[in-house]
Amino acid sequence: MQRHVTVIGGGVIGLASAHALVRAGHCVTLIDAHAEVASETSHANGGQLSYRYVAPLADSGVPRQAIKWLLAGNEAPLKLRPNLDPAQWRWMARFVAACNHHTHQASAAQMLSLALHSQAIMSEWRTRDALGDFAWQQRGKLVIHRDPKVLDKAAAARVAPQDQQVLDARQCIALEPSLTHQQAHLSGGIFSASDETADCHAFCQALERKLQTSGRYTRIANTRVAPLSARNGRIAQLELRHLDGRRERHAVEEVVIAAGNHAAELVRPLGIRLSLQPLKGYSLTLALAADTPETAAPHISVTDSARKVVYADLASSASRQLRVAAMVDIGQRERDSFHPELDEQRIAALRKLASDTFPAAGDFAQATPWAGLRPSTPKGPPILGRPRQANSPDNLWLNVGHGSLGFTLACASGDLIARAISREALPSSLSGPGTLTNTLPDALAARPGR
Ligand SMILES: Cc1cc2nc3c(=O)[nH]c(=O)nc-3n(C[C@H](O)[C@H](O)[C@H](O)COP(=O)(O)OP(=O)(O)OC[C@H]3O[C@@H](n4cnc5c(N)ncnc54)[C@H](O)[C@@H]3O)c2cc1C
Repeated sequence: MQRHVTVIGGGVIGLASAHALVRAGHCVTLIDAHAEVASETSHANGGQLSYRYVAPLADSGVPRQAIKWLLAGNEAPLKLRPNLDPAQWRWMARFVAACNHHTHQASAAQMLSLALHSQAIMSEWRTRDALGDFAWQQRGKLVIHRDPKVLDKAAAARVAPQDQQVLDARQCIALEPSLTHQQAHLSGGIFSASDETADCHAFCQALERKLQTSGRYTRIANTRVAPLSARNGRIAQLELRHLDGRRERHAVEEVVIAAGNHAAELVRPLGIRLSLQPLKGYSLTLALAADTPETAAPHISVTDSARKVVYADLASSASRQLRVAAMVDIGQRERDSFHPELDEQRIAALRKLASDTFPAAGDFAQATPWAGLRPSTPKGPPILGRPRQANSPDNLWLNVGHGSLGFTLACASGDLIARAISREALPSSLSGPGTLTNTLPDALAARPGR
């Protein structure tokens, strides 16, 4: 049956949800705080569709490693900026509790099944829906290691060994000649030939262009939705606060929360507690000349494992750019969380890391900086489907908490929300042991009696 679905949030998760819903025959109204889609975390992320690198941040060695990173200055992959917010400390406690082998393995298995489904859906949308150019490429992902012991450990921990080749330093450079400058420091790498890259912002714009041709999609821009309220077990209307000061009531049938970092405050009045923290990160975008030699800038996606920096060649028919993304800052308070601020010291450190690794790629002082907040759950997997709390409104659906993998997981997350709202069965790849639905049995299912 056709439903009218209101999606709150115009990042990659909201747009992928809207696209999947319209494809399934529903009508969508999408509401976002900004003038344009993908204006927050989905704007200039790392561009990785890293379907086989989905291991969550929470792992057994991480608390010890984090203490070393905390002493490492502005180039450190992780910075902790403690504040007095009890929600931050509760999240940290849950994160530390999840830093064990068993939880890590279970979360990684859920995320792998979701990621592989996402790759299949991305392929279907790309080939069937004529989305246009969003700098998508399937050139594979190479994770380089500098320490041979760490390389051996990573080789043993591969989640999809049949698709992930272990390479020595010479083979890494043969595959990606721009790593020549790193020759003396490289011990080897792991190459996933099937992984992809794309421009997340351009993907969101492409989805919206397609939605606009459907006749079943409307976007309300420059509008914040006030925290939600329900009556008789349903959300009947939303309070909209337009940027120009107007306020109005908006009637709803089904509501999908795809509000990234702002989801928790939206559902709090309903008694729903979402454990989400905004983990801040940074990126640089360097314009590359079309004739940049292959020894200067990477043409496949490269992840520098020790420094936790990712590099993606975002080449479209119009331009070629190198996207560099890195760093996790926990606990930094923003003056306005809808517009996260740049930290000039972190950006300067990122410029240095990038130009040390690829000195001939260009002048990183000229690269465009960006900051974003990853909406993160303590264990890693996103919160997808019906809220788990008893008595939550019948017409409320969650699609939040995608952390550092929102672009990678967006197509699957959108597809699964649309299936759930359409009361359609889940794909068999997602209902076996160790998969998302096995671990979150009630999350995707509608409550009995609906
Ligand atoms: C440095 C960095 C690098 C990253 N690299 C990668 C990568 O390489 N690959 C990958 O898969 N992922 C990556 N990510 C993660 C990815 O970018 C995020 O997981 C993803 O963008 C989250 O999308 P979202 O739609 O949930 O949130 P957002 O993109 O933030 O969208 C949420 C939208 O909801 C709107 N909104 C919220 N509340 C309201 C309200 N009350 N009313 C109206 N509108 C509202 C917001 O304004 C916003 O526009 C990276 C993140 C960072 C920070």
